[in-house]
Amino acid sequence: MSDPSPDDAHARDADDPLRGFGERFHHPSDAAGRRQVYLCGHSLGLQPKSAAAQVEQEMGDWRRLAVLGHHAAARPWIAYHERFAAPLARLTGAADHEVVAMNSLTVNLHLMMVSFFRPSADRNCVLIEQSAFPSDRYAVVSQLKYHGLDPHRHLIEAAPREGERILRTGDLLELIEREGRRLSLVLLPGVQYLTGQALELEPLIGAARRAGAAVGLDLAHAIGNLPLSLHDWQTDFAVWCSYKYLNAGPGAVGGCFVHERHARDPGVPRFAGWWGHDKHTRFRMDADFEPMPGAEGWQISNPPVLSSAPLLASLELFAEAGLSRLRAKSSALTGYLRRSIEQRLPGMAEIITPAAPSQHGCQLSLRLKLPAGPARRFHERLGAAGVIGDWREPDVLRLAPTPLYNSYADVHHAVSVMAGLLGT
Ligand SMILES: *Cc1c(COP(=O)(O)O)cnc(C)c1O
Repeated sequence: MSDPSPDDAHARDADDPLRGFGERFHHPSDAAGRRQVYLCGHSLGLQPKSAAAQVEQEMGDWRRLAVLGHHAAARPWIAYHERFAAPLARLTGAADHEVVAMNSLTVNLHLMMVSFFRPSADRNCVLIEQSAFPSDRYAVVSQLKYHGLDPHRHLIEAAPREGERILRTGDLLELIEREGRRLSLVLLPGVQYLTGQALELEPLIGAARRAGAAVGLDLAHAIGNLPLSLHDWQTDFAVWCSYKYLNAGPGAVGGCFVHERHARDPGVPRFAGWWGHDKHTRFRMDADFEPMPGAEGWQISNPPVLSSAPLLASLELFAEAGLSRLRAKSSALTGYLRRSIEQRLPGMAEIITPAAPSQHGCQLSLRLKLPAGPARRFHERLGAAGVIGDWREPDVLRLAPTPLYNSYADVHHAVSVMAGLLGT
């Protein structure tokens, strides 16, 4: 790469087949009205400009129709969640009936563990990674306790090697093999939230299944970021939220994948509710629960229409842009951020995220070579200067250029601001 110059960044933007999508999002601005450079799509995606109309449509139908909206709304509420199946299936590499938009991530994780963490006398452990997102850890530990198991003995944690931050696939495979006979469930992230590492899911899922364990994935940082093949990988279940790369807004409806091989298995226990009941007979209000085949059969309640409407707007943009074009731009854009940091902040920041394109998505995680106080203040000054990333204790600055709405000029500007603050 030539030395990163603003002209070079503009030339890259001019060549970007996805240019124009950035204008279809609201970008935040500071108190003086200056547009900020938003590199925080890994935490909360920007609002699609088309989202408000989707929400207003439902508000209007509710005003005009009240209860009749269940059937007479422009998008009848009774089947609202069904609109998400096809686009979510395309993003996750699933069949339409293997995915459903429902609840939120941690709730779905609990519901999936009810079905797929079924410890027996000798197969009663859950494997997670040591720096798992706290909510996932709390969920797993509480499930262990719920089954009367001791987390000190039954929670197995995969850690990076001493002095390293990244999980090595070989080490994970070895751990799964070594502990295989005790494993009831292996729960892995698609992309590790702190380091930005994308795990090599296919061999890991294969090893866990050969060991006889169920496999669940937390796709919070992977959906809308990386291509996925949940069906072909034989994943048992996956869960995600929709407010990160999927841009559906704070607390938006989450989602869930259940592999087809479980679709009609009456032996899989679940926590049931009326929305999981066969929709053809749901309103007969029968006493006996007859689950719908597929992921829809894990629904409990009727769909949260107002927290789902923005997701429709966002998924339309994903369909238009196409995941393969997004992924190609993402690799290039995040690679450009990496090279710009290496060239323009020499020796000042360690990039924790692996460099191999197959091992990362949008996000880069940096450790600034500053003492703790100044490093945290650096993040605050970066925000004050109009570059929005985020800080994760104890020492990680996360920056995620997002191919739908970030440009090379955004990345160039962000690195210029960082260089200015670091005095290079
Ligand atoms: C963002 C995130 C969550 C959030 O959980 P909610 O139930 O949506 O509040 C959970 N796990 C991981 C790994 C996350 O990145």
